[in-house]
Amino acid sequence: MPYSALCLDLDDTLWPVAPAIISAEKLTAAFLAREFPAVVPAGQAAAATIAEMRRWREQVAALHTSRAYDLTWLRTEALRCQALAAGLDETAATGMAAAAFEVFFAERHAVDPYPEVHGALERLARRFPLYVLSNGNADPARTSLGQYFRAAYSARGLGVAKPDPRAFQAVAESAGIPVNRWLYVGDDPHADVFGARSAGMATAWVHRHEKQWPEGLERADHEFADLAGLVEWVDSADLASGR
Ligand SMILES: [Mg+2]
Repeated sequence: MPYSALCLDLDDTLWPVAPAIISAEKLTAAFLAREFPAVVPAGQAAAATIAEMRRWREQVAALHTSRAYDLTWLRTEALRCQALAAGLDETAATGMAAAAFEVFFAERHAVDPYPEVHGALERLARRFPLYVLSNGNADPARTSLGQYFRAAYSARGLGVAKPDPRAFQAVAESAGIPVNRWLYVGDDPHADVFGARSAGMATAWVHRHEKQWPEGLERADHEFADLAGLVEWVDSADLASGR
């Protein structure tokens, strides 16, 4: 195998992200309704609270485009603005935002990996040092998958998001492995495949659910329907090289 290390995306590569976010937003809405009636009126439906939180995030994101890479800040700041608009003072608003974000963040980590992921990562980790680079704010150490990774990097921590090649280069530099020795594995044609390639890494696209490749974008070096396909290919490539 021509690679010295593998770097993986998290959301929709190792687990479906939507169920975790939906559940986390529901719990956050319930928390606000219970603890902050001044912000969420009694009897308001959770869906309405979730829609309102989203509107605040969109407003804050539009005002602070340079911080788009930091989803933790975005959610916390949006909650703070929402609380201030509801009449809470600065201290109370900051406290509410921090507490509500913690509720969200704990549940955001209650992810359910795709069925083959544990077994695949276990096998890959025996062959390669495994790293994570995510634009999301999940920390794999807070999930059941933390044991497989040497280190995890996020857009928030690096200050730059995929597909910017600097995000991938920062990971390579921090790990002390040249960019051309990496295989980057992800589900997003643009953020993951285009980005990693721009940085000089080899690329693998994981196309679950018969996802279509966008027209006009150069295809990934390798394509797999899931991580089991990647493991199978790693094993067969080793056989071909006589190992
Ligand atoms: Mg992804």
